[in-house]
Amino acid sequence: MKILVIEDEPEMRRLIKQFLTEENYIVEEAADFHSGLDKISAYDYDCILLDISLPGGSGLEILQELKNMNKADSVIIISAKDSLDDKIKGLDLGADDYLTKPFHIAELNARIKSVIRRKKSEGRRLLELGNVKINIEERLVLINNESIELNRKEFDILVFFGMNKSRIVSKSAIAENIWGDYIDQSNDFDFIYSQIKNLRKKLRDQEADIDINAVYGMGYKLIFK
Ligand code: CA
Repeated sequence: MKILVIEDEPEMRRLIKQFLTEENYIVEEAADFHSGLDKISAYDYDCILLDISLPGGSGLEILQELKNMNKADSVIIISAKDSLDDKIKGLDLGADDYLTKPFHIAELNARIKSVIRRKKSEGRRLLELGNVKINIEERLVLINNESIELNRKEFDILVFFGMNKSRIVSKSAIAENIWGDYIDQSNDFDFIYSQIKNLRKKLRDQEADIDINAVYGMGYKLIFK
């Protein structure tokens, strides 16, 4: 579990880091707005602890940026400002929780556990395959945080492979799952071949971490490059 602390007060940062490290989290730090922005752009975190008043900008802008990038990191705002307005703005921008300073460190830990648990139980609405992120509900695919256009079948095929990422899937399994029962009388799976070919090209063009390989005589397999 990786946590990013974006907080400009050194003592606060030190305390949080020390405590969470003892709790076996991997903790990274950012002391101002711009380094916070750099970190969230470059990496994914299970939880971000976000101060609002930061040198260089507002934590709310970082939140907005996370939203723009379609990131799924959980965010807990830790703010000295006990302003209802900030709280509402923060939650509106997708923050998972809000904690007013000063708080007890054990309280912070409980909140972190709770948002991480909540995210896990939201299940598989978001599939992450290396640099490929699939939002199943919104039918959105991001590669390196840029959205790519897939047709309906290409999308369904990608999700199907994502759900079966360590398995070889046969052409008939793909046909049944993507095209439905009416296709299973057909022995001609050329239509699958051409959809997969197009999908692979799109993945390659965007330098995706994944590819779909043919396994001779058996079907296809999703691989990480
Ligand atoms: Ca601050």
